[in-house]
Amino acid sequence: MHIVPVVELPKTEKAYREWVRAYPDGFVINALKEPDDRWPSSMRVMIFHRADCMRISPATPKRLNVRGHTIKACSMTPLALTTWASLRSEPLLFCCRCDMHIG
Ligand SMILES: [Zn+2]
Repeated sequence: MHIVPVVELPKTEKAYREWVRAYPDGFVINALKEPDDRWPSSMRVMIFHRADCMRISPATPKRLNVRGHTIKACSMTPLALTTWASLRSEPLLFCCRCDMHIG
């Protein structure tokens, strides 16, 4: 049996692109790699998206999804992602562009 980790953190753009392609109905949290005080507090937030949201789309040319300032926590399970997020200090917001319907 193949066991898939509940929350994945792709380390390369290719790995992220492949995850979104494999799980278009999954969920992604966009978060800062290092949410320290170099960033204004308005940017020190995590955003919960559907995997098919344009704002986190790996199809956007040249956008650094996971190799820049941000990481992407990816999961098929919203609860797994909110649990992952609860271990961090930043507030978790829900994307207003995704038309989020979870649970
Ligand atoms: Zn979104």
